[in-house]
Amino acid sequence: MQKATAIIAAGGAGLRMGTTTPKQFSELLGVPLLIHTIRAFRQVPAIGAIIVVAPAEYRELTSALLSQYQLDDHCTVVSGGKLRQDSVRIGLAQVAGDCPLVAVHDGARPLITPKDIQRCRDAAAIHGAAIMAVPVKDTLKAVGADTAIRHTVERESLWQAQTPQVVRTDLLKEAFAKAEQDDFIGTDEASILEHGGWPVMVVEGSETNLKITRPDDLPMAEAILMQKQPSPQMRIGHGFDAHRLVAGRPLVLGGMKIPHELGLLGHSDADVLTHALCDAILGAIGAGDIGRHFPDSDPQYKGISSIKLLAQVIGLAAAKQFRLANADITVVAERPKLASHFPAMQKILAEACQVEPNAINLKASTTEKMGYTGREEGISAHAVVLMANQPH
Ligand code: MG
Repeated sequence: MQKATAIIAAGGAGLRMGTTTPKQFSELLGVPLLIHTIRAFRQVPAIGAIIVVAPAEYRELTSALLSQYQLDDHCTVVSGGKLRQDSVRIGLAQVAGDCPLVAVHDGARPLITPKDIQRCRDAAAIHGAAIMAVPVKDTLKAVGADTAIRHTVERESLWQAQTPQVVRTDLLKEAFAKAEQDDFIGTDEASILEHGGWPVMVVEGSETNLKITRPDDLPMAEAILMQKQPSPQMRIGHGFDAHRLVAGRPLVLGGMKIPHELGLLGHSDADVLTHALCDAILGAIGAGDIGRHFPDSDPQYKGISSIKLLAQVIGLAAAKQFRLANADITVVAERPKLASHFPAMQKILAEACQVEPNAINLKASTTEKMGYTGREEGISAHAVVLMANQPH
């Protein structure tokens, strides 16, 4: 198969975004726009080398970003020019002489699909030049400076040009040379070809191939991207804990002090419910147990609120890109009655876990006076959680 070299035009300053760095560094679901764009091209077998044209002052940052996302092996970063046309010309000069096709794409169109890149490339291989475009849907108005409509524009033959724009390499080089000779400035590669009289075909693309130019575009792009993402990976975890009941200690459960003549004995506040929950979360993310992270022997955890430990456990999970989907917790205690405290506990636990309170279910059980809990020697707790993985 004839491979195409991709030129990713990421030279824009992105002034309309109101950000201090160019828009290609703005993040979509935690990943820079440019990275989404390059990943789409990397998934197309017909795309060989990728040349990223970045603003000169961001060339190093762009290179660092590509290596951070392990995309540097097939990508070259070059410094762009003042206009898009200058940047693409600089990119074009880097294309290997024997490469038959060039696919130029806006760095700020991160939602392009590998399938559409392939379709556009296939059309260019047949016709010499093809661009992604969508027919205009809305009624178009020509409007004067006074905001009054002058007339309605006939839209029958109107298409909105997008990228990629794929062209035979020799053709594009020839067209750029002619544009330079004539001092012609075009806003895309097709207009440069049109200027020289070369035919260019359109390939009907998708409205979702957004060009991110304004801050408003980011949430819309994120919503589109979310829909395309596979459902999250779920991990289950189980936790169990028991503590002894003694006199002279407060009874702390689910982050709340519960009025009772006995309290739980332990190095921390001995919040058995919260400990079971922490262990379930650690279990789900494959991170061992609470003793490993917060050892009894460490004085910094003496008397510490277990809710603080829970928040740290949630932080560990977040670092592994896991969030709590839901938790189901059972406390086994003969006394005191706990049900009336559950709504307040639910709120405290939900806040520490950064979830809605209804994601935390609390239940109480007795062992009908049997065993250590039945004899009120101690209280135990069981927790089961589901953790959802949301990769960036
Ligand atoms: Mg414990």
